[in-house]
Amino acid sequence: MILVIPVFVPHAGCPHDCCFCNQKIISGSKKLPGADEIADKIGSYASEAVRYGEVEIAFFGGSFTAIEPEAQEHYLRAAAPFLKINGGFADCIRISTRPDAIDEKVIERLKKYSVRIVELGAQSMDDNVLRLSERGHTAEDTRKASALLKAGGFTLGLQTMTGLPGADRKSDTKTALEIASIEPAFVRIYPTVVVKNTKLFRDYEAGLYRPMPLDDAVSLCSELCEIYSKHNISVARIGLQSTDSITINGEESEVAGGPYHEAFGQLVRSYDALQSVSETLDNVLKKHLSGSPGTLTLRTEPRYFSDALGQNRANAEKLRSSFGFEKVILSSSADPGGPSTAKRAGRVVSAESFKPDNAKYEHRLAKDTKAEVTVRREPTGRDSFRIRTDVTAEIVFKSLK
Ligand code: SF4
Repeated sequence: MILVIPVFVPHAGCPHDCCFCNQKIISGSKKLPGADEIADKIGSYASEAVRYGEVEIAFFGGSFTAIEPEAQEHYLRAAAPFLKINGGFADCIRISTRPDAIDEKVIERLKKYSVRIVELGAQSMDDNVLRLSERGHTAEDTRKASALLKAGGFTLGLQTMTGLPGADRKSDTKTALEIASIEPAFVRIYPTVVVKNTKLFRDYEAGLYRPMPLDDAVSLCSELCEIYSKHNISVARIGLQSTDSITINGEESEVAGGPYHEAFGQLVRSYDALQSVSETLDNVLKKHLSGSPGTLTLRTEPRYFSDALGQNRANAEKLRSSFGFEKVILSSSADPGGPSTAKRAGRVVSAESFKPDNAKYEHRLAKDTKAEVTVRREPTGRDSFRIRTDVTAEIVFKSLK
């Protein structure tokens, strides 16, 4: 398990005000931290850190390498004593910055202070979208900075956004393909939301910007995740993190519009699960069922249970209504497909294993997931005059690890 110690650097070093950004709000922090403050913050994690396999000190929120070099050193020096190589408890430092704020000098500085992970705010690889979003850099800046960082041995992360001004599904998909070709270690995907006190908010109010509806953003992000999965690039996050400034007591305080959901990533994973189960059932039911199906039992490992169930049982209800099941049962089992399944299975009429090569499911319930489907048929009628045949499809998700 990784412990990330977040140190927010709000709006520091930004030569631009990107149209969607009010960093002071998004980072949940409103002033620059001083060196003592940073040291106190990092130090406060000392006892907790022993429980984690990896501890990272993360300067998040601004454009770290765009601030004055002296200020960068000031922050990095404050963090340095906490690194294991200096007798501390943290494994590494990570920063986030702009693609046009990386050059050889910066690389040397980051190496000097043992920064290991660098995240670049690429946002889009479409220059027109970058221009309309007032990013102040180009796609080529992202390519160059990425190449420099990879050559310097850093772990590269690329942050992207969907639904920016001028973007559509096609350009967002193209961006994902280009990002994948850069081969970062990981990406983050943030659907654009309209945050108050930004230029985007003003455009939204004036009817000049229409955000992507939530459902569209969910299905788009699912497709993008599939692209990254095929390229073995992990998706570290989908959707903005809920901070006290974004959400207060569950109410979206600073978000004026757009596909914001505090559990956006889960919506995407649930969408994947629904798609995957639906595709699999389509095949199974076509092959094995005539008449209406009875009960669908979906068994998953506990960690996939809520994704498979969907928010407010949405997946269970959609599966029931789409396929005509009388009942959809979801159960969580630490050992799906194990002895308990065998014991409860009735007369097995056929069994199939589905390798997830064509299943969307693979990509996030994930690379490490496979689906097995067993169809069984058992008599359940109590009425001796009317023997009813109930068909139960058991779908088991389990880790390949
Ligand atoms: S560069 Fe990053 S922090 Fe600065 S205004 Fe743009 S999005 Fe916000």
